[in-house]
Amino acid sequence: MNSKLQTPIDYLKGVGPNRADLLRKELGIHTYQDLINLFPNRYLDRTQYYKITQLQRNNAEVQIIGRVVGLKEVAQGKSKRLVATFKDETGAMELVWFRGFKWLKESIKLNTDYVVFGKTNAFGSTFSMPHPEMELLIEHEKNLRSAMQPVYPSTEKLSNKGITNRVMSKIMQQLFLETHGKFEETLSVDLLSELKLISKSEALFNIHFPKNQELLARAQFRLKFEELFYIQLQLILKNLIHKSKIKGFPFDQVGEYFNTFFKQHLPFDLTNAQKRVIKEIRADLGSNAQMNRLLQGDVGSGKTIVALMSMLIALDNGFQACLMAPTEILSVQHYNGLLDLCKDLNISIKLLTGSTKTSDRRIIHEALENGELDILIGTHALLEDKVKFKNLGLAIIDEQHRFGVAQRSKLWRKNLTPPHILVMTATPIPRTLAMSVYGDLDISIIDELPPGRQPIKTVHRYDSNRLKVLRFVRDEIDKGRQVYIVYPLIQESENMDYKDLMDGYESIARDFPSPKYQISIVHGQMKPADKEFEMQRFIKGETQIMVATTVIEVGVNVPNASVMIIESAERFGLSQLHQLRGRVGRGAEQSFCILMTSHKLSNDSKTRLETMVKTSDGFEIAEVDLKLRGPGDIMGTQQSGVLNLKIADIVKDNDILKLARFHALKILKNDPRLVKPQHRPILFTYQQLAKYKNIWNYIS
Ligand code: ADP
Ligand code: MG
Repeated sequence: MNSKLQTPIDYLKGVGPNRADLLRKELGIHTYQDLINLFPNRYLDRTQYYKITQLQRNNAEVQIIGRVVGLKEVAQGKSKRLVATFKDETGAMELVWFRGFKWLKESIKLNTDYVVFGKTNAFGSTFSMPHPEMELLIEHEKNLRSAMQPVYPSTEKLSNKGITNRVMSKIMQQLFLETHGKFEETLSVDLLSELKLISKSEALFNIHFPKNQELLARAQFRLKFEELFYIQLQLILKNLIHKSKIKGFPFDQVGEYFNTFFKQHLPFDLTNAQKRVIKEIRADLGSNAQMNRLLQGDVGSGKTIVALMSMLIALDNGFQACLMAPTEILSVQHYNGLLDLCKDLNISIKLLTGSTKTSDRRIIHEALENGELDILIGTHALLEDKVKFKNLGLAIIDEQHRFGVAQRSKLWRKNLTPPHILVMTATPIPRTLAMSVYGDLDISIIDELPPGRQPIKTVHRYDSNRLKVLRFVRDEIDKGRQVYIVYPLIQESENMDYKDLMDGYESIARDFPSPKYQISIVHGQMKPADKEFEMQRFIKGETQIMVATTVIEVGVNVPNASVMIIESAERFGLSQLHQLRGRVGRGAEQSFCILMTSHKLSNDSKTRLETMVKTSDGFEIAEVDLKLRGPGDIMGTQQSGVLNLKIADIVKDNDILKLARFHALKILKNDPRLVKPQHRPILFTYQQLAKYKNIWNYIS
């Protein structure tokens, strides 16, 4: 390997201690290697000239040859701008300045060929270029730039301290001089030839100093492939090692509990998707390997019954099981639901949450340790060290997106032999993302809702239509339905949000006066016992309206509730809106979701609202969400290590990701320990990566 690459950046000619310090602090560049992996964000293409009619609404920098045929000052309110009409043989556009008029008016030559360069904006069908770089064509031809100019990631501090883009390019050139531009190949010869990839050295050269568009594209492809390939390789290897090394408890029998329940107590026929998923889980549990499975199913798709039946298999084999949910309300609901489903089964089930009394806790701890307790349901409280199982065989985590990956591994360590793990999530994760973030998990999907559900009617209404909405609500309540009204609660502005909620509550109380109407209210600042009391009143039908913050987002099940009103819906994220909507449509009645907003809506808000009105398919919604927010935001900081990619983009480079996963799988299938000589570069690179930045740290 090119040992020079580990040289501290201070030693590179032209860097020195001060710049080295800045590079370390601002961009995390410590060595030559780090520098070479600082890829440009974009390139200024000075090799191409555009015609005015070719301009697209994509806001990229373009270069155009043409003439200024007119100049005028335009006043708009207090501000003024200088507008030039710029023409080529295909059409006309505008050049715009907001300052420096005097000098510009004196120096711009009319009807003379210029090259202008900059970003364009479109107004209607006219394009304009604000503050263009301008050069006379004759001058331009004299010092013609022959290549695309890279633009490196930077920070304000870097440019303030003089490390401009030009300086970065110089430093990069120096690095190529000192290393002779020769870099160890990191992919196998087979991969290079099969995928017609350019070599590592060629790719690095062209990513920093692209000779032309085609070589740049090939360099990008090769480096993106490589990046995604090694992530997939690590994830798949991890999964394989799990399966071979980590012996699980083999649950070889499906016995009394499961069969009795299946034959006598199932309250409904399982959907085909539920049956399929239960089979997948059964196969995992019956194998010798520890199960690590992600169960995805939209809200209301019936994951709970799958969880229960999986737990019954554990019990049939003499093991205990636990089910962890993110909120107290949800834990209580699971507890009551499962108690009811299991009432004839002679199983001991208990609930453990933050508000369980100390005396009860002690009893639970004891029963857990001596094995009298079969199933424990609860919140994070299950993770406490004091909670010890006699023999935990299966741990289920509901609504994964609320839990970090750390918790997953904490459950793992509850036994000497790790329990089987089933993670259930109602937020569908786009496949590409699932592949990257949960590449080490097996995935089951419930893609079918129980029969007889009517699709929820979703509409978007402005606040100005509130009266109509209220009339509708009254009609529904008079028909015997129940209604949720949800307010946003966003951390930073909690006090204001809280006031919104209370104001809302008061005005609803005026519109729906007691004793005819009863209203529950639930929010985060209430004591758990009070929340529970209010929840129960709504569940029992004693109240018709539930005013709440997003506390109710997850899992709550009240089949008679058929209207969901979301206030300030523009402030919610897509997956949250989808989750909230999932609270209704659980009974036989036609259900409605009303998204209330003000008139001021950003483009993203509009897209979110339109998506909600248009579809109720969780996977489709997840795809839109991914495009709007990007992967880092969706998965939270836990996984950002995996998603913090240098060059690839999980959303845009979906196809390369699939290709990378395909080849990683193929190679590992044929050579699981990468010991074959042709895989030496892969093994070597893999070991290097594992040493420097073990992505396993980010994933359980
Ligand atoms: P989620 O996947 O959101 O956790 P639940 O497990 O809470 O969904 O199920 C939602 C509702 O659908 C519950 O009332 C449950 O009893 C019901 N249900 C689940 N599976 C079926 C089925 N196969 N047929 C009819 N109803 C079902
Ligand atoms: Mg659920």
